[in-house]
Amino acid sequence: MKLQGKAAIITGSTSGIGLGIARSLAKEGASIMLNGLGDSGEIKSLQKSLALEFGVPVHFHLANMAKTAEISEMVRDTVEAFGKIDILVNNAGIQFVAPLEEFPPEKWDDILSINLSSSFHCIRNALPLMKAQNWGRIINVASVHGLVASPGKAAYVAAKHGLVGLTKVVALETASSGITCNAICPGWVLTPLVQRQIDELARNENLSEAEARERLLQEKQPSKEFVTTEQIGETAAFLCSPAAAQIRGALINLDGGWLAQ
Ligand code: NAD
Repeated sequence: MKLQGKAAIITGSTSGIGLGIARSLAKEGASIMLNGLGDSGEIKSLQKSLALEFGVPVHFHLANMAKTAEISEMVRDTVEAFGKIDILVNNAGIQFVAPLEEFPPEKWDDILSINLSSSFHCIRNALPLMKAQNWGRIINVASVHGLVASPGKAAYVAAKHGLVGLTKVVALETASSGITCNAICPGWVLTPLVQRQIDELARNENLSEAEARERLLQEKQPSKEFVTTEQIGETAAFLCSPAAAQIRGALINLDGGWLAQ
């Protein structure tokens, strides 16, 4: 229970990678502030089941990561619930794929604000609290697309490259303190965000779902296996441990070999 007594916010944790990270931090004893979209009944039962499974307090905040005022409210409410914030995981994100000249400007704006600007606002709100206690862990869930590009993903690639840059700046500004900031850069993880891309590929290329999955992995991920949300969760928990205190501004790719090519 390396994180007993620590309080964590994980944005976009009602599903996929964020939920995997919430589970790993809760397993280590951290109190959890969940956030994200979804059916309120399902979120309530998720809250209950996590609290029961790991024996930690689990709260939920509905803040929309596209709304600056709601982000400030989420940080305030977390402090009210737990008395502090020790761990901030900026994970909420969306995807949209289209060639640049067909890319809807409103999708560009949504992706930039949810996948990039929300992290700036979360960090800006949480940092003074972490500085006051001289301890904090900031983990930004970027992507291999924070380091390399793919066609059709102008907004996503731009936002994730931006998030990698933001990670480095925050790491430098906190370098002489007990606060660290790092980015996790996953390759393909089988979550609803990727399932939608598999479905689209299957539709466009007239493939079965299994064939579309295989094609997706074949193109980019040499292991030909999806990264799991558990593997990402455990990496986040490691970044919060004392062993990781001097890992600062690192970009940790969990990508089945994607970036080695
Ligand atoms: P997901 O769709 O399963 O989860 C996304 C989460 O973000 C959900 O909880 C959703 O409710 C939340 N969210 C979306 N819009 C929001 C908003 N406006 N306000 C608050 N919450 C919002 O997707 P995922 O694959 O788990 O993605 C999580 C993060 O991991 C994203 O930043 C994504 O870019 C990144 N990522 C995913 C993969 C992958 O292969 N799945 C790879 C690299 C990076």
